[in-house]
Amino acid sequence: DGEPLYCIGCGARIQTADKTQPGYTPASALKKDFDKTEVYCQRCFRLRHYNEITPVGLTDDDFLRLLSQIRDANALIVYVVDIFDFNGSLIPGLHRFVGENPVLLVGNKADLMPSSIKQSKLKDWIRQRANEAGIRPIDTALISAKTNQSVDELLQLIDQYRGDRDVYVVGVTNVGKSTLINQIIRQNTGAKDVITTSRFPGTTLDRIEIPLDDEHVLVDTPGIIQPEQMAHYLSGNDLKVVTPQKTIKPKVYQLNDGQTLFFAGMARFDYIKGPKHGFTLYFENNLYVHRTKLENADQFYDKHVGDLLTPPHADDEALPELVRHEFHTDEKSDLVFEGLGWVTVPAGVTVAGWAPKGVSVILRRPMV
Ligand code: GDP
Repeated sequence: DGEPLYCIGCGARIQTADKTQPGYTPASALKKDFDKTEVYCQRCFRLRHYNEITPVGLTDDDFLRLLSQIRDANALIVYVVDIFDFNGSLIPGLHRFVGENPVLLVGNKADLMPSSIKQSKLKDWIRQRANEAGIRPIDTALISAKTNQSVDELLQLIDQYRGDRDVYVVGVTNVGKSTLINQIIRQNTGAKDVITTSRFPGTTLDRIEIPLDDEHVLVDTPGIIQPEQMAHYLSGNDLKVVTPQKTIKPKVYQLNDGQTLFFAGMARFDYIKGPKHGFTLYFENNLYVHRTKLENADQFYDKHVGDLLTPPHADDEALPELVRHEFHTDEKSDLVFEGLGWVTVPAGVTVAGWAPKGVSVILRRPMV
């Protein structure tokens, strides 16, 4: 109907005429009943789904220029992270590119965490993890952009801290930044036509601005690609299977050492040495978990990946091989398969986590 469309990845105006210009999308992608609120330009689509272009933060001149503009601006930075994938949400060198500007840390996807975990505890936890990563937020909020939980409170915090400044919303892809921006648009303005777009000066990137008052705007910035995110290694369908949609129901497995758990064919947990113990799993509720003997686990995987252990599917493009990461715990910890979930492990045991090559497996302070 002629209404302009904007890429929800980079904000560029969608166009079908010139491949070399921002916002290009093949006309075929805009046929039939495509979702107008979920349009990606070809560049962002490829980045998201195939990790085809080098991460934009590292090589793209425009992107670097954009970052330096954020540094030079007098702004409140709203930094959105996914609490289910905290490590995958970290922006390397965040403080370098936000400069002196204050950072408001927003933990999104709170709806995924069991309600038995106190909100105040979760908030403390994300603030501490941020501190460890060298990020010192002025405040922390916990929200669900999807269910609209605490988005009002976030908007109040933003108003409180922004003072006489604009607001820049930053985050890596997949943390729910677009979902949040859409909630803000809905709540703040009730109408889409007050969104203005302009260009980040000196770049070819468009920016989406939502007026906050007569003088100040909330600016959506392009999602930053974090190459270690699990999302870059999975097909769209497989990603749906492993990504939690509803509140996670933790599962407890009593394990003896010498036992292995497979998380479909995506990851593997070996209990190598320690007493019999309960291990708590935080994964998508329907993700298939298979217990077997550690000594048979390699063979079992080779035989069953793609059938019993699925995803990945047999007809998927080959998933990178699983890589083993061994740990000994000094204290109770979460063994995190970045983006997929985690296992809470007691102190004083030896374990190994396996994940597709490129995907991090780390030990961290337990969330619960
Ligand atoms: P962006 O790349 O940061 O803009 O992320 P999107 O807004 O596109 O969201 C990425 C995925 O996370 C989508 O599948 C969303 O439905 C989902 N998502 C976003 N916000 C939430 C949330 O608060 N809770 C849950 N469970 N999922 C969310």
